[in-house]
Amino acid sequence: MQVDNSFFKQIEHIGIAIKDPEKSIPIFNLLFNSTPYKSEAVVSEHVLTHFYQCGPNKIELLEPTSEESAIAKFIEKKGEGIHHIAFAVENIEQEMTRLKHAGFQFINEIPKKGADNKLIAFLHPKSCNGVLIELCQEIAE
Ligand code: ZN
Repeated sequence: MQVDNSFFKQIEHIGIAIKDPEKSIPIFNLLFNSTPYKSEAVVSEHVLTHFYQCGPNKIELLEPTSEESAIAKFIEKKGEGIHHIAFAVENIEQEMTRLKHAGFQFINEIPKKGADNKLIAFLHPKSCNGVLIELCQEIAE
């Protein structure tokens, strides 16, 4: 019998849009009493990410590096703040198929390489009650 491992394992991270890292990073450093364990550019998305570990979960600060960035547009429209919630999945392709059959729309139809060694896909907020949801699968090293 095939085991169905298609489900959300846990909240992997919460993405927060920031405008000015010199202003925002010290606030989060104080809040978490630590500094980002990693800062990584995602060139294709025009963002610089900064990660904090909070127990089993992470906080991902998203800093736009150009006007074209979806994060720059988000900040312009809604201001800084929570941008998305990312869920860890075992098998992203399988989970995308399940969700598409259930009527959910994806922003990217094919999983792409995201920050922090992950394959990622975003569900359209229109199909998730206004919430931008990211699925991510750890890439085996
Ligand atoms: Zn994310």
